[in-house]
Amino acid sequence: MPICKIRPHHGLCTAFFIGKGYDSAFTANMSECIAMLRSLDPTVELTVGSDIICEKCPNRRGSGCRSMTPEQYDRKVLEILGLPEHMKLKWSEFSEKAKDIIIDGGRLSEVCGECQWSEICIILGATAKYTKNAP
Ligand code: SF4
Repeated sequence: MPICKIRPHHGLCTAFFIGKGYDSAFTANMSECIAMLRSLDPTVELTVGSDIICEKCPNRRGSGCRSMTPEQYDRKVLEILGLPEHMKLKWSEFSEKAKDIIIDGGRLSEVCGECQWSEICIILGATAKYTKNAP
């Protein structure tokens, strides 16, 4: 199976996804990506740029995003987890680290407190109703 590019902050978004998104194509693709990551546990490459979830997003602009904030979220995740960009590791290893250190470590607002979706993540995180990403 080919290596999947994953934006580091998407290790957080995927834990809190409840079927909401920018449009129907985006949410369908994100659902498929999450199902694939959890069932196949592929090797992922941590990428500050467009990834498999961005592929169907109306905000994608080539290999980037129309907004600069996702890049800031990505770099903060890498900094907190102490991982370099382009590192390759199993999805389960990456998502567990993100969960343990950032979500359960109470550091979500440091990464993406300003995000338009953060209300969902804060509520689900507080009630421990987010989904474990690991298979
Ligand atoms: S908003 Fe930007 S970073 Fe987020 S999924 Fe869409 S293109 Fe990717």
